[in-house]
Amino acid sequence: MRVEIVAVGTELLLGQIVDTNSTMISQRLADVGLDCFFQAKVGDNLERIKLVLRDALSRSDAVIVCGGLGPTQDDITREAIAGVMGVPLEMHEDIAESIKAIFSSRGRTMSQNNLLQAMVPVGASAITQVRGTAPGLIAPVGRKVIYAAPGVPYELSEMLDRAIIPDLLERQGDKASIVSRVIRCWGLSESALAERLDPLFQEIDSTKAPITLAFLASGIEGIKVRLSARADTKEAASQVISRYEAKVLEVIGDHVFGYDDTTMEAAVGELLLERSLTLAVAESVTGGLVASRIVAVPGASRWFRGGVVSYDTEVKRTLLGVVADDVITAQAVIEMAIGVRSAIKSDVGLAFSGVGGPEGVGDHAVGTVFVGVDLGDGAPFAHELKLPGDRERIRQFSTISGLDLLRR
Ligand code: ATP
Ligand code: MG
Repeated sequence: MRVEIVAVGTELLLGQIVDTNSTMISQRLADVGLDCFFQAKVGDNLERIKLVLRDALSRSDAVIVCGGLGPTQDDITREAIAGVMGVPLEMHEDIAESIKAIFSSRGRTMSQNNLLQAMVPVGASAITQVRGTAPGLIAPVGRKVIYAAPGVPYELSEMLDRAIIPDLLERQGDKASIVSRVIRCWGLSESALAERLDPLFQEIDSTKAPITLAFLASGIEGIKVRLSARADTKEAASQVISRYEAKVLEVIGDHVFGYDDTTMEAAVGELLLERSLTLAVAESVTGGLVASRIVAVPGASRWFRGGVVSYDTEVKRTLLGVVADDVITAQAVIEMAIGVRSAIKSDVGLAFSGVGGPEGVGDHAVGTVFVGVDLGDGAPFAHELKLPGDRERIRQFSTISGLDLLRR
């Protein structure tokens, strides 16, 4: 079974957005062993979309199109698919009703345009939306098939796992169930991770185990290892996952902070909750980023008390009692951590001071960041980071590395 991907959107051609959707779809196809030999990008133009779809269908058994399912004039994927099928579009009342319901539940009036999303090519079926308004499509063309999914990555991701990949597998006569899990880690380089996991890759290869292991983009959220297993039933696939997850944890367990969508800040929050501890932060180089990422976690108020953006040296001294001459030192962040813990009356104080760049500060090179921790046990400590990248990356890396210290 060969599958092709078509990403629709003029913004892709203008270089305004990066086509991460095609990458996501490719990964999911690879996870389940489906071949993808071509990916195309096309603008919001009816004739050109039809051309690309016909072209793709001439080579492959299935095409996954993403984007252009919205309610605006330039969202013409539905129309293009109907054109390729040689059928008109028809209104699906049930979809129209559910779109109306979404709008009224949000207290908004719906413009008529939105009903365009309830139009389905005759002979095609709709994939219900769970996360947005635009339904997807499964559109048979002879013995082949076109799937349409929304361009919004979060909506696409859900629809792929729930409807599109299972439908593809079923068409292939494959009744397999797929279970995936993402293991998230921090503090290991991608190459170090690859080295540690290499024996496992070889084992999977040589035993032809029904599982794939892949690294996902490393970046400000850490490295993700994605496990994806197939078996006759979901339970059996889950068992395979558990078995290999244990093997992965054996070699990188000390660096794992969470699973699937769990962020570092959420993982730290869980840990603090378990121990009934509260946190306060004092931020210089991160300027509020740590607090901001923390409060993005639902329920953070149960463990996060607040923070101080002590950017100016004077603020560090007057509000936090810092006496160190040089405020980019271990001593300074320890004093900041102690100061904020006492000012905000939390159990734990966490502090950040460093050089975000682009220029160094005195003797301190860009990327030098100190993180201080005070647990109120009389043994406050600091950790020095040497971070790569630009100002934004340094601030993000500081945040996640600093929070990671609280798990140790
Ligand atoms: P909507 O209902 O939001 O209009 P849609 O199905 O029409 O959804 P688009 O309008 O094409 O999809 O895209 C919606 C948003 O999704 C875009 O603003 C963009 O941020 C993101 N997006 C679209 N295509 C891609 C892509 N190939 N890769 C990454 N992001 C994308
Ligand atoms: Mg759109």
